[in-house]
Amino acid sequence: MSLFTVPATVAPLRAQVAEFLEKHVYPVEPVLLAGGIEGTRILKELEARAKDEGLWALGHPARLGGGGLSMLDYAYVNEVIGRSEPATQVFGTTTLQTVLMMDAVATQEQRQRWILPSVTGDLRMAFAMTEPGVSSSDPTQFTTTARLVGEEWVLNGRKWFISAADRSAATIVMCRTESGDVPVHEAFSMIIVPRETPGFRLIRDIEVMGMHGVMSGHFEIQFDDARVPASSILGERGHGFRLAQQRLGPGRIFHCMRWLGASQRAFDHLCQRANSRMLNGRPLAERQLVQKFVFDCYQEITASRLMVLNAAAKLDSGGQARVELSSVKVHCAQTVANVLDRAMQVYGAEGMSNLQPLEAMWREARFGRIVDGPDEAHIERVSRNILRAYRNGEGWDFGER
Ligand SMILES: Cc1cc2nc3c(=O)[nH]c(=O)nc-3n(C[C@H](O)[C@H](O)[C@H](O)COP(=O)(O)OP(=O)(O)OC[C@H]3O[C@@H](n4cnc5c(N)ncnc54)[C@H](O)[C@@H]3O)c2cc1C
Repeated sequence: MSLFTVPATVAPLRAQVAEFLEKHVYPVEPVLLAGGIEGTRILKELEARAKDEGLWALGHPARLGGGGLSMLDYAYVNEVIGRSEPATQVFGTTTLQTVLMMDAVATQEQRQRWILPSVTGDLRMAFAMTEPGVSSSDPTQFTTTARLVGEEWVLNGRKWFISAADRSAATIVMCRTESGDVPVHEAFSMIIVPRETPGFRLIRDIEVMGMHGVMSGHFEIQFDDARVPASSILGERGHGFRLAQQRLGPGRIFHCMRWLGASQRAFDHLCQRANSRMLNGRPLAERQLVQKFVFDCYQEITASRLMVLNAAAKLDSGGQARVELSSVKVHCAQTVANVLDRAMQVYGAEGMSNLQPLEAMWREARFGRIVDGPDEAHIERVSRNILRAYRNGEGWDFGER
């Protein structure tokens, strides 16, 4: 038993999710990943089954109809869900990040129209920050604008890599709403644009690492004088960056929980294959080079897991955990890619093929070092914070952080 052994209060739920995955998700995973009519039909069936079994939206706040798990308890469950990419949809987890951000500032009308149906899975919402032509790591450069004309916001601009923009009922758009004399960090707002708004167009589904969006798709979208009511603003004018931080912070830890799951699954594959594959009369497991793979994976996964649980506990206690979240995102994204890479290596040709889930998982994992801020931006943020603490005379006592 360690301090972070799954608590008895969560263990049965976690086991139930694991059993569901084994029984109902893994056997149809390729069909789900292929999408199409059959994939969508099966996904709907599994979503209904997850709801029936009380496994839907476990991390969403209870007052919004979710399972209400604390961040730490959710980490134990979400690390299991993360073993399979389609499972994130089957268990209704994908909307959590956006729901939490909206819930902090939404009006009553926005809560009824967008948040509650997001929790039940009746709709989803896309989130649009990134633009072609400018670096998303410096969002002050974004060029999409919204002008208040009478009782309407009028949006113009282009965004890209917007996940699930095709199947979302609305897109939350980060855009400049204030004039050039307002300090840039107070010049952007978020505006909700329903899918059917005239002037809002999907340009294309961008192929990413050989994958067209099957489970979600990543779209280039355009706004040409797209008009929405003034009440479509989310939170206050000029609070766009503040809200973005609220979304991206917890979002990072949700990614990390899922990457722990993918790491676990890849590690299982690696170890089982090492024990069973024979080479010159001996299993691969007896080769020191393969043992080093196991050792490296063990160390990296253990470190990632402790970092995730530590950050989750900090969030539960009301802390912002900015340094922890940036640090853990970099670590987990690298870990899952490393573990999958080693597992593929030990599997030989089969590991590179669609006969095993590893290569698709590896491609998906590679996104991790870019999405929600590239590694370099997070590394810089962590170091800047720590060095500032030293300059302020506080230092960085790990025992007290
Ligand atoms: C699969 C996928 C899904 C996505 N979904 C969405 C979505 O739904 N909504 C959305 O708005 N966006 C989405 N994105 C976009 C993603 O958030 C951005 O790609 C990411 O924030 C990086 O921005 P950028 O592409 O403009 O790269 P840039 O900001 O131009 O960065 C490029 C590179 O510059 C370097 N760099 C950046 N900052 C620093 C630094 N501080 N120090 C040193 N080097 C640095 C790094 O090497 C970095 O990789 C998605 C992207 C992918 C791949």
